[in-house]
Amino acid sequence: MSEKTRTIVRVIGVKKTFTMGKVDLQALKGVDLEIFAGEYISIMGPSGSGKSTLFNMIGGLDKPTEGKVFIDEVDISQLDAFELAWLRNRKIGYIFQTFNLIPVMTALENVTLPMTFAGMNADDAQDKGIELLKLVGLGERFQHKPLELSGGQQQRVAVARSLANDPSIVLADEPTGNLDLSTGEEIIDLLQMLSQERGVTVISATHDYKMLNVSDRVVWVRDGQVDRIERREELDITIGGIGEKLTGRKGA
Ligand code: ADP
Ligand code: MG
Repeated sequence: MSEKTRTIVRVIGVKKTFTMGKVDLQALKGVDLEIFAGEYISIMGPSGSGKSTLFNMIGGLDKPTEGKVFIDEVDISQLDAFELAWLRNRKIGYIFQTFNLIPVMTALENVTLPMTFAGMNADDAQDKGIELLKLVGLGERFQHKPLELSGGQQQRVAVARSLANDPSIVLADEPTGNLDLSTGEEIIDLLQMLSQERGVTVISATHDYKMLNVSDRVVWVRDGQVDRIERREELDITIGGIGEKLTGRKGA
């Protein structure tokens, strides 16, 4: 494993409170996290523990109530709307549980959209889009629309789209959450390929224990806080072992 020592994401004291009528809900209660360029990070934790909220903070999709997020040493809360749009378009690729493809566009159009938004001409975008769809194993399906594709294929399109502008970070929120086990494994293999062959920093919120096998570090989140961070070598990668870690019981 190459040295991964350059900080690419720094989360400092991030809190997020959602106010619902008269009720305040503290989704993040003070998260500190440092992620190095090229790392594959899994954010694991039970449903409702704050994974997606943290994903949205790191991705600049929502703002912390308190605390700061730095991407490449830039405090993203200081960015204006234009700079933030640039960051989201160029620096970060996003993958969601529900794929979030545009249904009226073909696979290829979904992948080229972020490129043309970034100013690339249509011909170059087309070539690069086809190349990316080939990379994710969808070479012959670039004229299909999302609903003409299986879930796994739609997620492959989303992976290709996330790479449109060669981001240094790919953020994935439960990327295997809507897929069956083996299709999910194929998506994990793709993310691992991005990390290993392209040096992309992959940060994935996940329930999927299979993801642990490919992660450099696992950030365990519980009740809006980072419970602990473990390196892969420290993990006990058996489902029984993980169950025991989660529940404190043997044979869980
Ligand atoms: P996870 O992704 O780990 O399942 P989330 O980050 O989605 O958890 O949610 C953490 C907590 O914040 C939950 O209690 C959830 O109901 C709440 N929450 C998340 N997003 C919102 C929102 N937009 N408005 C109000 N509450 C929210
Ligand atoms: Mg979530």
